Amino acid sequence: MTNSLKDIIKNKILEDGPMTVGQFMGLALGHPEYGYYMKADPLGRGGDFTTAPEVSQLFGEMIGVWVADVWIQMGRPKEFILLECGPGRGTLMADMLRATKKVEGFHGALRVHLLEMSPALKEKQAETLSAYNPQWHEVLSDVPEGCPVIVIGNEFLDALPFQQFVKVDEGEVERMIALDGDEFIFVPAEGEIFEASVERDKFVRDVCRRLKNQGGAALFVDYGHMKSAAGDTFQAVKSHEYVDVLSDIGMADLTSHVDFEALGKAGDTVVCGPVTQGAFLSALGIEMRAAMLKQKASEQQAETIEKGLHRLIVSDQMGTLFKVIGFTDGRSVNPAGF
Ligand code: SAH
Repeated sequence: MTNSLKDIIKNKILEDGPMTVGQFMGLALGHPEYGYYMKADPLGRGGDFTTAPEVSQLFGEMIGVWVADVWIQMGRPKEFILLECGPGRGTLMADMLRATKKVEGFHGALRVHLLEMSPALKEKQAETLSAYNPQWHEVLSDVPEGCPVIVIGNEFLDALPFQQFVKVDEGEVERMIALDGDEFIFVPAEGEIFEASVERDKFVRDVCRRLKNQGGAALFVDYGHMKSAAGDTFQAVKSHEYVDVLSDIGMADLTSHVDFEALGKAGDTVVCGPVTQGAFLSALGIEMRAAMLKQKASEQQAETIEKGLHRLIVSDQMGTLFKVIGFTDGRSVNPAGF
């Protein structure tokens, strides 16, 4: 299978010349037959990478509280769309919904919509979330527009394609992927690298347009930096190890760090943050929630809760590298955690 996708990309380069990093990523992840996300579930211990909701239920519970609070601040609309972008196994949504069961009127008002392109993960989500009757969409433009919307996405934006530029004597050129014999190489080979992502910025802009038109708020969590800066953050992960970005095509997850300064500028509504994941979760009361869960837990469960909490909020774990940014419709809501 790898060979087929490698050949497809090779032939495309032979025909059309070098391709951009974004095109390469789009094919490696999203090729309808051989793309990475078209195949089996990539998450968890037996997969390639682990995400915050897979680390601990506390993550989804906190995001659930955030969403319910936004809904209350919005005046408890009778119907609203709860849209998750790139829901993975459905774990985050399931934890959010479980944690908010007792919020009066909330479950009756929410309609679960999921933006997902992976057939394998869709299946998994259908299993996890069958009780909530979710509706799937492959593109944002297919999500209905008639009512308010609250959007969440964890490690979604990093999966969208991005561009790299290289500083050369004559100015700046886009970094391309070319062929050297049978191998893929970057051209130009040297020079300082800058990144941008037309796709991520556009996604955020489109979400913000919806917030303004429909009312609501959005929350995105991802690894990345607060301020735009030079550097190559293109990365490939397979079986929890970093691998070469140009090898293992279709078999490794490809991402880059999200530029939160750029996202903030792309969203032309009220922007909250960015703040670190550790600060966000602490402000929402994650330590208190963990302490509460531990009271009713066995010794072993208590240890698992503590480990999960540590991993989510401590600086040398996920607490600092991961950032959180929010967007609102600019009217009534003042989201918690920022
Ligand atoms: N949010 C989940 C999964 C993160 S992995 C978690 O935290 O565990 C990235 C998710 O985004 C996967 O579900 C993947 O299939 C989905 N995805 C990636 N690119 C996408 C795109 N262009 N459109 C829709 N979904 C996409």
